[in-house]
Amino acid sequence: MKPSIFIKNIVSILQTCLPSDKDIIALHEPSLQGNEWNYVKECLDTRWVSSVGKYVDQFEEMLKGTTGAEFAVAVVNGTAALHIALKLVGVAENDEVLVPSLTFIATANAVKYCGAIPHFVDCEERTLGIDPSKLRDYLHEIATIKHGECYNKLTGRKIKAVVPMHTFGHPVDLDPLISLTEEFKLELVEDAAESLGSYYKGKHTGTLGKVSALSFNGNKIITTGGGGAILTNDPALGKLAKHLTTTAKVPHKWKYEHDYIGYNYRLPNINAALGCAQLEQLEGFLERKRMLAKRYTHEFEGLEGVSIFKEQDFARSNYWLNALILDTKYAGERDVLLEHLNQQGIMARPFWEPLHTLNIFSDCPQMELQISESLASRVINIPSTPTLVQTRV
Ligand SMILES: *Cc1c(COP(=O)(O)O)cnc(C)c1O
Repeated sequence: MKPSIFIKNIVSILQTCLPSDKDIIALHEPSLQGNEWNYVKECLDTRWVSSVGKYVDQFEEMLKGTTGAEFAVAVVNGTAALHIALKLVGVAENDEVLVPSLTFIATANAVKYCGAIPHFVDCEERTLGIDPSKLRDYLHEIATIKHGECYNKLTGRKIKAVVPMHTFGHPVDLDPLISLTEEFKLELVEDAAESLGSYYKGKHTGTLGKVSALSFNGNKIITTGGGGAILTNDPALGKLAKHLTTTAKVPHKWKYEHDYIGYNYRLPNINAALGCAQLEQLEGFLERKRMLAKRYTHEFEGLEGVSIFKEQDFARSNYWLNALILDTKYAGERDVLLEHLNQQGIMARPFWEPLHTLNIFSDCPQMELQISESLASRVINIPSTPTLVQTRV
């Protein structure tokens, strides 16, 4: 299909923002220009490559420092972190867990790993995350409290928890969501996989929920190759998180005694070494990401029909992935736009397919999901690697 003037304008604006000396500009590449090599080499030289070693402990300490969480437990990936986070708040077989339909598959998969059922809720345009006021109205309609627990009147099942996800690093409006969890007796688990370095009213995302999950996959703001972490401020849960993710072995010099069906989810030292080197650079990444977002915002200001997603006043976002939002009337042009950008070597990707539209989740309960469907049809991500801008030029 021939590109419209509208699409040509978007492509040419992006070309002015991005380096011209590269054939392909990735959506998000790891930046490994700090101490990564030194720390990983030290692991190899000392042979501390596996699940015990100083970098695992150091990485957890650094994560506590960065986020302000009381406890941080490093695990093999963000999905494993979510799985354990849900277990820790007591999500059990046949419970329902409220999750946004617009999220990466892992949020809902982790619910399934617990034998529980994802219950899809709508997002709002303001944050791209769960819409707390729409959720409140919905729960007033379908939920009832029995013996201090929330039940779905339509399915008879317990609704145990809600899992807001901070899309592309942009914090969900957490305060109204927290008061809703109090009103409806729900546990709050934050999927903060994308939002390391993002703050809600001055507090780091992932420290407001009872338990939360971070991810350090290769495309995230910092990477450990693969990795994740569980955050909590609750000492008992922090301890249990560590225990469950290390096969629930009872400490002893040689005896193999295990008191739970645990998991082998501990992050290896060699990955944690990468993580320490990456965390040392987080401030710089954040600074560059905000500069890149500013640049995009400025360049797109003059173009009708499209905008760069902007953080709310209550938020300080890490701008992990920049999002270009088309007005509804241009939604039909999204695929042509994707086609042309990728053809020009500018990697661009659509939003995830809303999870309620996937066959694997077709029998899950859901509210009306109009905003999620609308956003999914007209949001694309554009290149967001921090090194795409130079600081202080
Ligand atoms: C990346 C991501 C995860 C999962 O993290 P992995 O480390 O890839 O397992 C979970 N939720 C969201 C929203 C993510 O973006």
